[in-house]
Amino acid sequence: MTSDTREEGKKRLKNAQGQDSSKEQCETRPERVLLLEDSQDDALLLRRVINREWPKCEVLVVQDRGGFESALSVGDPTAPAQLHAESSKPGRKYDVILSDYCFPTYSGREALTLAREFAPQTPFIFISGMMGDEIAVECLKAGATDYVLKDRLSRLVPVTKRALKEADERARRERAEMARHKSESRLEQSNRELRRKNEEIQNFYHTLSHELKTPLTSASEFISIVMDGLAGPLTATQSEYLSIARDSCRQLRMCIDDLLDATRLDTGKLALDFKPASLPALVQRITAAMKPQATEKSIRLHEEVALNVPLIAMDEHRITQVVANLVTNAIKFTPWGGSIQVKVEPAPGQAGLVQVSVSDTGCGIPRAERDRIFDRLYQVRAGDAATEKGLGLGLFLCRELVELHGGRIWVESHAGGGSTFVFVLPAEQQALRSNVLVIDDDPELLELLKLTLSSDGYNVRTASGGWAGLAEMRRQRPDIIMLDLAMPEIDGAATLKEIRKDWGAVPVIVHTGFAEGELMQQALESSPFTLLAKPSRPQQILETVRKVERADDTTIWKRNHFGLNRPSKSQP
Ligand code: ADP
Repeated sequence: MTSDTREEGKKRLKNAQGQDSSKEQCETRPERVLLLEDSQDDALLLRRVINREWPKCEVLVVQDRGGFESALSVGDPTAPAQLHAESSKPGRKYDVILSDYCFPTYSGREALTLAREFAPQTPFIFISGMMGDEIAVECLKAGATDYVLKDRLSRLVPVTKRALKEADERARRERAEMARHKSESRLEQSNRELRRKNEEIQNFYHTLSHELKTPLTSASEFISIVMDGLAGPLTATQSEYLSIARDSCRQLRMCIDDLLDATRLDTGKLALDFKPASLPALVQRITAAMKPQATEKSIRLHEEVALNVPLIAMDEHRITQVVANLVTNAIKFTPWGGSIQVKVEPAPGQAGLVQVSVSDTGCGIPRAERDRIFDRLYQVRAGDAATEKGLGLGLFLCRELVELHGGRIWVESHAGGGSTFVFVLPAEQQALRSNVLVIDDDPELLELLKLTLSSDGYNVRTASGGWAGLAEMRRQRPDIIMLDLAMPEIDGAATLKEIRKDWGAVPVIVHTGFAEGELMQQALESSPFTLLAKPSRPQQILETVRKVERADDTTIWKRNHFGLNRPSKSQP
């Protein structure tokens, strides 16, 4: 290396050091230091050391208890306000407190206690002529930030810098934590507000639907009376027009009924009445009733019913609604001359389940739409007024009702190649297992838990986080919840708190790898739960869920499935 390049290198290094130290100064420069020191010489020396490093730093020297107390505004009721007003750094009147340890009439330990009470955020450093290790450790335990021996004052500046840096970081963390708390409580508040508004809207829909239903029923009745000739003879044209009016009333009534059911589901007021019933008989009744409608479009509607289908526990009215909805859709979306087949059979390859399928030769459903058609208010826009009648609630209600029965619904379809809507219901009462909602942000674990629990016959739904889990619960109240604790956005403890607030005593299994942590403490504060430590083996998972199922007040659930009225979903 030539001497020139060496010089350049040195210059660069110097510059870099200069930049570094100015950056550090900028981060850690104290503006006001409080110095408790009874020796004037020592105070002068310390002030010099401080001002040599930070020339603009103001050093307030106090010599005894009185001076220290008034510097800390002890006894001044407006002190906290002053603390904030006087300092550029919130909560700190002084950036650092330096204190001797031994005084004739005061002690460093007392000064420390006072400082921790009146200036808890401010770093407190002892500067002492002699301080044994034991005393130093005790002082640190009592809240001192550090200590410097008077014969090693060269440490004062680095120790002060470090203390300031730590205090700044702590203050930044606390501010961030406060901001987090604030935004969490704002979020909680707006969630509450949204829920309240949602309830208001639901109540409004409910009232409106009822109010519309009464005059509509009366209009339909009078149309029927006139059509039956009870008000005198009708011309063919009059009959035709009245029949259109009656169809419109029927259509309107179906919309209102869907709306009412959707609000009932949302508010947990949809009560199911489970009784053993025959699915084949139910299907035969529906196809017989709907044949005229199909015939109007020259559609062949026929059913195929297996002989070995057992009676199953269901709410007949609601399953009739599901099948009728599927057949109505099939008629709507099948062109003239097509055919529709409704089949009831034991579910192929799925022991313990009965399957109903409605197949048509209609327009089919494009792949991209298939997952969405069960969503609330979703309709495929085909630009065809006849098929766009309705509110897009039909399939949503079908899915909710089937799932409330512990079943599942899906569609198999190809655009242009017809559609087959299939749903399965548990065949035997014993096969009706609890609905388990698993909330975990680990997608692989979620899949594994789903597999494990489904293989044992549980109806499993999953959610990849706390908010998603709460949304799922609003959709359908589960019998048992498996809940992870460490999750982003809203952790398990906070989710549990929400669950308890809105759903009361639904059984919760906390499934966590942090059985000792702070989250666990928080979770424990909000409610009792069953603990399952991660990692857990499939057998352990099943045993825990079974135990909870047995131990919990599942009488409500059992009663529902053994023929008595199911209580509303919102009932804890
Ligand atoms: P709505 O209550 O308005 O009839 P649904 O929820 O029953 O709505 O249906 C949602 C959408 O699913 C419909 O807009 C339609 O595009 C599609 N769909 C339903 N059944 C069929 C079917 N058998 N064939 C083709 N598309 C269908």
